[in-house]
Amino acid sequence: MNVVQDNYRHQGMRRRLVELLKGRGIKNERVLGAIGQVPRHLFIDDSAFLEMAYADVAFPIPCGQTISQPYTVAFQTDMLDLAPGCKVLEVGTGSGYQTAVLAALGAKVFSIERHRPLYLQTKDRLARLGYKSNAYHGDGYKGLPKEAPFDRILVTCGAAAVPDTLVGQLKMGGRMVVPVGEGDVQRMMVIDRRSTGIISIDHGAFRFVPMLEDKTG
Ligand code: SAH
Repeated sequence: MNVVQDNYRHQGMRRRLVELLKGRGIKNERVLGAIGQVPRHLFIDDSAFLEMAYADVAFPIPCGQTISQPYTVAFQTDMLDLAPGCKVLEVGTGSGYQTAVLAALGAKVFSIERHRPLYLQTKDRLARLGYKSNAYHGDGYKGLPKEAPFDRILVTCGAAAVPDTLVGQLKMGGRMVVPVGEGDVQRMMVIDRRSTGIISIDHGAFRFVPMLEDKTG
């Protein structure tokens, strides 16, 4: 059962999570503020797992996927360097938690998910919780040509290589944050599209579920 409720206990748990993320090196106050606001427990289906919702761990969601660990969400969001009003493409909607964090920061979010049941469930959840976003079902490798170009692109699944199509959907001056690598571990790449060329910087090792091409279901 989904408990659509957020109370003082949840708020206290979020304050502790924010302190924990600060301790782990997240300094961006706006990002910490968004994590402190978004009720992560409402993005996990089983309310029996309340404690897990505010622990710094990834957690299973339907279709064999995971809601990213809060530290990873905070790190990727910080790397995105968002300003309110930024047009953002998220690849891998999953639970919608990261989408909600982006929306809480004032981004205009377009999010794409390859699993139809997740797309449907999450679209409904975000609307119910009052987060404005544009949900799409499809293959994120193709991006969203009809909405491109984007100020920012955030990939929340592990890509085998930097997806060129997505780089092409970035505005000049735009940025993509994408975990790259085959197998269990990816490197967090921050890719800036400048008039002088593409600049990419490696920000260390993370673990993601794989980004799968041409496999909508
Ligand atoms: N941002 C999500 C993370 C979910 S895990 C959250 O906060 O919950 C990554 C998601 O990427 C999974 O739901 C998976 O189904 C999706 N995914 C993997 N490959 C994809 C692709 N090619 N296009 C769109 N979504 C994809």
